[in-house]
Amino acid sequence: MSAAPAILQQPHCLNHPRREAAARCTSCGQPFCRECVTELDGRMVCGSCHRAKLEVKEKPKRDWFLISVPLQLALGILLLWGTSWFLGKVLLSTPSEFHEGIMWQRFGF
Ligand SMILES: [Zn+2]
Ligand SMILES: [Zn+2]
Repeated sequence: MSAAPAILQQPHCLNHPRREAAARCTSCGQPFCRECVTELDGRMVCGSCHRAKLEVKEKPKRDWFLISVPLQLALGILLLWGTSWFLGKVLLSTPSEFHEGIMWQRFGF
């Protein structure tokens, strides 16, 4: 196959070396055929750039979801741990007078 000279003569589609480029991607500047370019926000972009731009648009949502789930889990565990720690501390520091009802007076009950 001797397709190399043809590529040098005229810009060809990056995805289809045998097809002549119809447009250049406004994002990466590479030549592409009519099939490989898509219009995005009024500009011609190639398939991979189109996908990349769409992913960037959707990314914050997914990232927030990925961050928020472990964060909520960690907060839940921390809250649970804190509550059990507090309860344990209160129970440990509770003297026998707790059973006599004096403890409640301390808290203002
Ligand atoms: Zn591109
Ligand atoms: Zn193409």
